[in-house]
Amino acid sequence: MPYAIQLQEHGGPEVLRWTELATPAPAAHQVVVRNRAVGLNFIDVYYRTGLYPHPLPHGLGLEGAGEVIAVGGEVRHLAVGDRVAYAMGGLGAYAEEHCLEARNVFRLPDDVGFDDGAALALKGLTVRYLLRKTYPVEAGQTILFHAAAGGVGLIACQWAKALGAKLIGTVSNARKAELALANGAWAVIDTSREDIAGRVRELTDGAMVPVVYDSVGRDTWEASLDCLQPRGLMVSFGNASGPVTGVNLGILASKGSLYVTRPTLASYMLTPEMAAEAADDLFSRVRAGDVKASIDQRYALRDAAEAHRALEARKTTGSTVFVLD
Ligand code: NDP
Repeated sequence: MPYAIQLQEHGGPEVLRWTELATPAPAAHQVVVRNRAVGLNFIDVYYRTGLYPHPLPHGLGLEGAGEVIAVGGEVRHLAVGDRVAYAMGGLGAYAEEHCLEARNVFRLPDDVGFDDGAALALKGLTVRYLLRKTYPVEAGQTILFHAAAGGVGLIACQWAKALGAKLIGTVSNARKAELALANGAWAVIDTSREDIAGRVRELTDGAMVPVVYDSVGRDTWEASLDCLQPRGLMVSFGNASGPVTGVNLGILASKGSLYVTRPTLASYMLTPEMAAEAADDLFSRVRAGDVKASIDQRYALRDAAEAHRALEARKTTGSTVFVLD
């Protein structure tokens, strides 16, 4: 029987258990993928702790790449043997075999490896909807993007540069600053020693930015609002430091008639057509060389707890991939 990471309870990394688990047969709109590589995402931490509720027991993981080994009766765009990558479509990617919704599974171009597919599928599609759909960034614009040396962050640095935009990235140390700059950030703010809004004011000659992409959440919420131009857009898309709660809407008025959205990738992949268009866009960027995977950590899947500890301790940079045989 194949193995998978399973949770019987929510909690710290120790609740991740490497367990023998039968793979279900795919329903009509599902496929089963034999994973060759699996992506680690901060969202996995939220499901592990229970911040994002899900009935127990459950698996973990929403990103991976491998070969299709079974196909539901109504799936038309995939066949057994296809090399694929996927994002979302059902929890449980931390597994040797994963049964998930077919609309979230995309054929991998021949020249993109499994590791890169697993590093880029969810994170790359996230950057794509943030920069192209939530707020379509234009050439010449200056934007603020938090956690710029992380998995999503390094891809955002590259994609923003390819669009001709100037990305100001926040990072927590000098090594991460170098990495963000090497990946295309226009400027960086080291949050361990610099004031975020003050530096944005200097870097933009007082103009501030039309959009802030904030995945840090609680710790940066107010500083992010302070970086926006009047009527600017706050894109709060993650909770690495904890969720933003108890907001008094009046703060949006006093800081300049601001807009706020709290988006998720799933809302930008509602139909098979939307999902396919998003994947085409991502993989054309990859094939054009605009976006490259930065896999800075690799682990065996059974050591997922160790990878979670590193991610939560802010010790990782770029993407982390679990490799399978
Ligand atoms: P990262 O690799 O970016 O890791 C998180 C980073 O956040 C850390 O490296 C750290 O960078 C920064 N951070 C700031 N404060 C904290 C803190 N208190 N604890 C831990 N980290 C902190 O993760 P991912 O690339 O997987 O994801 C980035 C973010 O994007 C996450 O918040 C995730 O939830 C969100 N996301 C949202 C999606 C959506 O559709 N809404 C989809 C995908 C991801 P530094 O040390 O430089 O500050």
